[in-house]
Amino acid sequence: MIFRRLMGFFSLDMGIDLGTCNTLVCVKGEGIVLNEPSVVAVRKGTNQVLEGGNAVGLVAKEMLGRTPGTIAAIRPLKDGVIADFDITEAMLSYFIRKVHGNRSLASPRVVIAVPSGITAVEKRAVLNSAERAGAREVMLVEEPLAAGIGAGLPIYEPTASMIVDIGGGTSEVAVMSLGAIAACESLRVAGDDMDEAIINYLKRTYNLLIGPQSAENVKIHIGSASPLAQETTIEVKGRDMISSLPRKAIIKSEEVREALKEPIGHIIDSVLRTLDKLEPELSADLVDNGIHLAGGGALLRGLDTVIAKASGLDVKVVDDPLTCVARGTSEYLEHVEWQRTLESDEDDI
Ligand code: ADP
Ligand code: MG
Repeated sequence: MIFRRLMGFFSLDMGIDLGTCNTLVCVKGEGIVLNEPSVVAVRKGTNQVLEGGNAVGLVAKEMLGRTPGTIAAIRPLKDGVIADFDITEAMLSYFIRKVHGNRSLASPRVVIAVPSGITAVEKRAVLNSAERAGAREVMLVEEPLAAGIGAGLPIYEPTASMIVDIGGGTSEVAVMSLGAIAACESLRVAGDDMDEAIINYLKRTYNLLIGPQSAENVKIHIGSASPLAQETTIEVKGRDMISSLPRKAIIKSEEVREALKEPIGHIIDSVLRTLDKLEPELSADLVDNGIHLAGGGALLRGLDTVIAKASGLDVKVVDDPLTCVARGTSEYLEHVEWQRTLESDEDDI
């Protein structure tokens, strides 16, 4: 018992948000110490990470869509499932080692937030990867719980808290109470689908083919879910689908909103389906507590307004939605530790 407490004192506790777009690591007492894209560069046709093993994260993201013939930049969690175990493991190891570095002698204790929709096999793969990367203890936490903690919601109390966490590959919709998930849905429609909707719109309307990074840029700069006080335009560049030559076009924020209607509609439907599954007492709590939006998708202008309109509930974007899960994951470890200490203190008596 004393030995465990001593080890806890010297070791490093990491909370990891293993997102489909971004991986963040939060260390107790230090805050967010790593924030990089979940991207790995590999030799095409293999799952061999590029020599040196450092073509991960920011370095690899810059290669996305621009790789020469022999290299591929891969997002191993793209659709919210682990598409490639080996590459995910290489990525996780790289991030854990990078943070651990020379910070601490003892191997780290790690809590990883994973989408609630991943399978038992995928969970085991994440646990094994973290162990192989040198973690002493590994725990998983469901992403909505971590998001709720990070947002400062009273998820351990007997009242309903609702989180809609819109990431890149998945949107997690969940209602929690007493530290557990009462109803949830893990939807494979999120930020990436918004980018794709913009790409398809430009293809259809302007015969212009643009890449996913450009589409994301359009979404972040002028994307919206409800009318803007000041509508605006943006210049996009890509390849003309008829002449095959590079070309640009100017698109309006109203057009982008029209393009985003479909993916946003799916997210709203998921929120309504989740509300529909609730026990009446939990529904009653939400009349006062409202819905909280987290994840990068929460930053889309006017998304709160359309969800509020469809559900009739108050909708708030949490503070710093992109780091909410990582901060909550790190805090979760403290909560679990605390619970375990209480239990073992009882054992000691
Ligand atoms: P994940 O948890 O899946 O890694 P994140 O929570 O990091 O995802 O969110 C990434 C998603 O958020 C991407 O699709 C990105 O385009 C989107 N995003 C980031 N900033 C904005 C913004 N200002 N407006 C709309 N979408 C945004
Ligand atoms: Mg996320």
